[in-house]
Amino acid sequence: TNAARPLSDLSAEELDALASTQREAHAAQAAKGTKLDVTRGKPSAAQLDLADAMLSLPSATKDRAGTDVRNYGGLSGLTELREIFAELLWVEPEQIVAGGNSSLTMMRDVLVDLLLFGAIDSPRPWAKEDKVTFICPVPGYDRHFGLLEDLGIEMVTVPMTDEGPDADEVARLAASDPSIKGMWIVPTYANPTGSVVTQEIASRLAAMETAAPDFKIFWDNAYAVHHLTEDEAKSADVISLASGAGHPHRAIMFASTSKITWAGAGVAFLASSVEQVAWYLQHLGKGSIGPDKVNQLRHVEFFGDAEGVRAHMRRHAEIIAPKFAEVDRVLTEQLGGLGIATWNRPTGGYFVNLDVLPGTASRVVALAKEAGLSLTPAGASFPHGDDPQDTNIRLAPTMPPMSELTEAMETVATCVLIAAAEKLGG
Ligand code: PLP
Repeated sequence: TNAARPLSDLSAEELDALASTQREAHAAQAAKGTKLDVTRGKPSAAQLDLADAMLSLPSATKDRAGTDVRNYGGLSGLTELREIFAELLWVEPEQIVAGGNSSLTMMRDVLVDLLLFGAIDSPRPWAKEDKVTFICPVPGYDRHFGLLEDLGIEMVTVPMTDEGPDADEVARLAASDPSIKGMWIVPTYANPTGSVVTQEIASRLAAMETAAPDFKIFWDNAYAVHHLTEDEAKSADVISLASGAGHPHRAIMFASTSKITWAGAGVAFLASSVEQVAWYLQHLGKGSIGPDKVNQLRHVEFFGDAEGVRAHMRRHAEIIAPKFAEVDRVLTEQLGGLGIATWNRPTGGYFVNLDVLPGTASRVVALAKEAGLSLTPAGASFPHGDDPQDTNIRLAPTMPPMSELTEAMETVATCVLIAAAEKLGG
């Protein structure tokens, strides 16, 4: 199968022969009975171990200002932790909040506040509008779409490119429809495409005219510091860009240490204009007397400073970069030159984005399941789980041990080949 002849050049007989060889490999894999799983965008145990020094921190009970972290208070989070992440996220400390353990929860809080109260630049609460629509670059993060669906917010898709969302299309939509109140962007090493929003695209989105006066960019910088190579992407400073273009409250940034320290016990961050941060805290303060400052302090002690975070991320990269390389090696060996699949070689983040022949992604996922391999459901990276081309599959290589990852990728290749041969053989 490695002759690297495009499969579309093969005769019906050749396709048949290919399919039957691959079906044998598939049956052999199924007979082994091993259970493999590349669905989970989670750190592996070895990555979590990197932060185990935190298990015996903090060593102090007071923060820099002398406040007892064991007690109530300090809604916006520890100043020293906000300083570290302000530096990493290119914002000012007064623009950033250090909160609980999940940035996704912060995104939900902001959406709910927008629906119930409206933003400081809203004519009325969003829930009072006839309808609210978000622009969703696809493929994108499934939970972003699930959150909107749950809250009754409509979704309109735009293509994700190597440079970020298709800015022409975003600008056209945002200018034409006042129900379009916002958009998602994962600016750095996007889930799942791995793309990084360029300075130029960020500037356009920050400056574009929008029919809604209170358009919000949900700038989810979940992978801001999650580099896999020495070529470290620097995210655009969207908050300053928007403010410079006369839209100071347009951008809201989110980030967390979920994939830096521990995914269940990290710290999440929100950053925006000082006024919009105050708006967020005002509503948050009705339901919270303060965050878990003990956890925040142990993060401060563990990292020391922003360089401590960068150094820690290099240790993550040592563990996971070889896994991403292995995915590329197997896929290249098995599928390279066949014209039936493309995939990216991300330089950061947690995912590999695999595109197979249109109409075969769900078949590939079903075949994989028969062979004992769990793949993320086809369509998961699209609103309502609907990939109109049925072409996209998200691979998450960080969690499985290397030997399992190799076996999983060989199975992926087998399933892609079978589905392609079936499709082309008609
Ligand atoms: N945003 C993106 C783009 C993600 O991929 C993830 C997790 O996979 C999250 C947010 C979740 O972040 P948190 O753990 O801070 O809620």
